Amino acid sequence: MVYINRSKSQLLEEIQRLHTELAAIKLMTEKRTTELYISEERFSLAMRGANDGLWDWNLETDEVYYSPRWKSMLGYTENELDNNLSTWANLVHPDDKNGVLEKAHDYLAGRADSFEVEMRMRHKDGHEVYVLSRAFLVTRKSDNKPVRLVGTHVDITERKTTELFDSKSAEILEMIAIGRPASDIYDAIALMYEARHPGMRCSMLELEGNKLMHGGAPSLPKEYCDAVNGLEYGPSVGSCGTSTYTGKRVLVENIETDPKWKKIKHFALPHGMRCCWSEPISSSSGKILGAFGMYYNHPALPNEKELKDLNAAARLAGIVMERDQAQKRIRKLAYTDELTGLASRASFSQHIEEITKTSARHHHRFALLYIDLDDFKGINDSLGHDAGDLLLKTIAKRLVHTCREIDFIARVGGDEFCVLVEEVEDDYAANIAKRCLHAIAQPIEIYSRRLTPACSIGIAYFPDDGENLSALLKAGDTSLYKAKENGKNQYTFYKMELTQKAQYRFQVEQNLREAIEKQQLSLVYQPQIEVSTGNIFDFEALSRWHHPELGQIPPINFIATAEKIGMIKPLTEWVLRTACRQLVAWKKKGFHALRMAVNISPSLFLDKEFASLIKRIIEEVGITPTELELEVTESIVQTDPRNLSIFQDLKDLGVSIAIDDFGTGYSSFASLKHLKVDYLKIDKFFVDDMLIDEQALILISSMIEMGRKLGHEIIAEGVEKLEQLNILKNLGCEKVQGFLFSKPIRADAVSKLLLSYQHEMNKIA
Ligand code: C2E
Ligand code: CA
Ligand code: CA
Repeated sequence: MVYINRSKSQLLEEIQRLHTELAAIKLMTEKRTTELYISEERFSLAMRGANDGLWDWNLETDEVYYSPRWKSMLGYTENELDNNLSTWANLVHPDDKNGVLEKAHDYLAGRADSFEVEMRMRHKDGHEVYVLSRAFLVTRKSDNKPVRLVGTHVDITERKTTELFDSKSAEILEMIAIGRPASDIYDAIALMYEARHPGMRCSMLELEGNKLMHGGAPSLPKEYCDAVNGLEYGPSVGSCGTSTYTGKRVLVENIETDPKWKKIKHFALPHGMRCCWSEPISSSSGKILGAFGMYYNHPALPNEKELKDLNAAARLAGIVMERDQAQKRIRKLAYTDELTGLASRASFSQHIEEITKTSARHHHRFALLYIDLDDFKGINDSLGHDAGDLLLKTIAKRLVHTCREIDFIARVGGDEFCVLVEEVEDDYAANIAKRCLHAIAQPIEIYSRRLTPACSIGIAYFPDDGENLSALLKAGDTSLYKAKENGKNQYTFYKMELTQKAQYRFQVEQNLREAIEKQQLSLVYQPQIEVSTGNIFDFEALSRWHHPELGQIPPINFIATAEKIGMIKPLTEWVLRTACRQLVAWKKKGFHALRMAVNISPSLFLDKEFASLIKRIIEEVGITPTELELEVTESIVQTDPRNLSIFQDLKDLGVSIAIDDFGTGYSSFASLKHLKVDYLKIDKFFVDDMLIDEQALILISSMIEMGRKLGHEIIAEGVEKLEQLNILKNLGCEKVQGFLFSKPIRADAVSKLLLSYQHEMNKIA
């Protein structure tokens, strides 16, 4: 329409001009296309000559052309693989893929001037090929739009593995230099050679005497390593057993058929190993230290490169092995006491550092026993140093026999020894100290002279008396000094009261057996009252022990000891008999409708014979089973279901069962249900707190409610105040026991109490 106002000639002129322009453009485009074509052709030819692979990604159609060389680099023929991007995406290493794509996009978007990237690709047979890829962009001249990305692939595997190998070697040398553990270095050496020879698996064995011990073989199955570990070398013991025996390289092409493997091939064949080449590892002085083994899963002999590497690997492993063995020797020298063979002072210090750390972490307590011989100097001076040495050796042996294997014993000075023991139970350290005193004090004959050695022992606890080596040693030393000062031949704790406590407990322990055997204990009885009537319906028998020197010993101090020394059964038998006989005596006096409650330790309760013991006593004494109640703590509720039958036997017998100290353990009402419990004795702890702590009150109230709903009777223990009684009454508690009514009293006092009760009742009636 613009042309409307123009003249015809003007128009013709215009058309002419456009034609010429178009022709020029056409000419130019044709020329450029030909140029491009020629340059590509040339490029392709050049590529072929350079042995590089060529790829050509058409950005418009997303087709990718892969040249025959590109494919053969990865083990494929010209006709294999599709012409698309997925072909590449499937072959590139997944860890490298995104990085490569990112670089390609940066280049395409003009953010990068060039495209050059290294990546790993998977060869058809599975191994990795390192590829260097470079590319350039082809843009359309008319609109400058990128249309193709054309690039090359160069196989740089050789260079890359050499680079990797070199950096691995440097790493290993560094590991050797900084003294990393030999086993770590063996693994690193194996992995380095394995990376260099795909499919290869390596092992290092150390020769100890005539046995081959596992050194490192990170890629061999554990089962195989275990089977070979400890194998004796010989003229025909696989590849490594033979090479260490003969001192010569052994190349076995086929494990299946080689006579050297006849006896042990069944270890290797199931794991696929088919050939094994072994190079002896020797020290700088030529001593055989072990062997380096290379395995493949196919029969083969090594090529030149493999042979060279076998040799080099054995040399490298030799450096590590020689050094490691020297270090082990030095360590042994430094860490053992030459005379006694015990740990040395250095080893003791190191050990204590370690266990303070682990004990702190696990909140464990351990004791340091600092032992010093009494008057050792005198023996040394009068009998000579050889006699002194003999004595020290004997003492060391005695300590080893006395302590457990896990207790750490060291000789830390001339006649000083230290023992580290974990306090696994109360008085454990004191017990060991006692046993050491006893063991050391055994007479000994040295050069026809009979001696009776003695020692003093100081005991310090970690962390209570010291949290580190020096603090602990100081505390141990101080307590040792106290033991010497107190007259020698004894042990003393760093904290005075511990010594007294331990000694008291030992005295209790020593005297208890006799007291039980000679029936020197006595019983007191505490009434249990029915809240609704105020009547006494039951007495709980509680043991008492009065020792002529130690005085009154409370049951918490001797019941546990009785269990520890295996005396709880005779003790309980005595309590049961005495208490039941007492009940019979009261009945004879006219006090009827009473029952007797006896405390039973869980360990005895769970004894197979327990029910028959109860039956025997009941028959012997002549009470009815319903007159006896057994009090056990909640701990029996949690133990295994076999207890069910004990409960059943007791129920069949007709005795009642009460759960003592209820609420302090972890039993649930549900678990109680199976056990057919008659009474729950709510622990004094809750009764104490109910007036001051609302939560205790809530707990008591729910225990009573739940207990009653589930058919148990409730007894509240430790009732001391009227206020407590009233609340308990309101909450529905049926029975109570406590100082409010009566303390535990002797049998004669019980008679008086019962009489006064009878009197009261008569008055009411
Ligand atoms: P237990 O079975 O819980 O006995 C109750 C304890 O609480 C008794 O202490 C008793 O004197 C005390 N007690 C009772 N009412 C009150 C009170 O109102 N206030 C206070 N403060 N205390 C009260 P005891 O006699 O010292 O006995 C301690 C523990 O020793 C007993 O606890 C029981 O577990 C054990 N025991 C005592 N005699 C024997 C026995 O012959 N065999 C076994 N296996 N254990 C026994
Ligand atoms: Ca009790
Ligand atoms: Ca109790």
